[in-house]
Amino acid sequence: MSDDCVFCKIVKGEIPAEVFLANDEFIVILDANPKVEGHMLVIPKEHYDNFMDLPSGMYEKFLSTAKDAIEKLGVKDFNLIVNNGKDAGQVVGHLHLHILPRKDGDGFEIGA
Ligand code: AMP
Repeated sequence: MSDDCVFCKIVKGEIPAEVFLANDEFIVILDANPKVEGHMLVIPKEHYDNFMDLPSGMYEKFLSTAKDAIEKLGVKDFNLIVNNGKDAGQVVGHLHLHILPRKDGDGFEIGA
């Protein structure tokens, strides 16, 4: 855990979030500033700064948690995005995977 990390504070219940799904190692929350309807974040409960820091044995669960959330949401078309590092647009320094459900004409453009 990191004391000044917003996602660690969400995991600890110190700041509120809409938790869509949770298991032993991950939570899935609704993004506070959704780029599209249903925009969610898959977040490890332990603090890892970025994608490269997640222990090797956790990658499968990371993605299967995303799959569980997508199935629960019931969408067919989506983007999965990890912004890794400042130059790639990572703002929150605690690993998270964006789930972006897509609809024709929703106006979202990757990198825009
Ligand atoms: P990134 O640019 O990949 O670091 O994205 C960080 C994401 O976290 C953004 O989409 C924010 O809207 C989202 N975010 C930041 N703070 C919160 C919060 N307290 N609750 C939910 N989502 C958040």
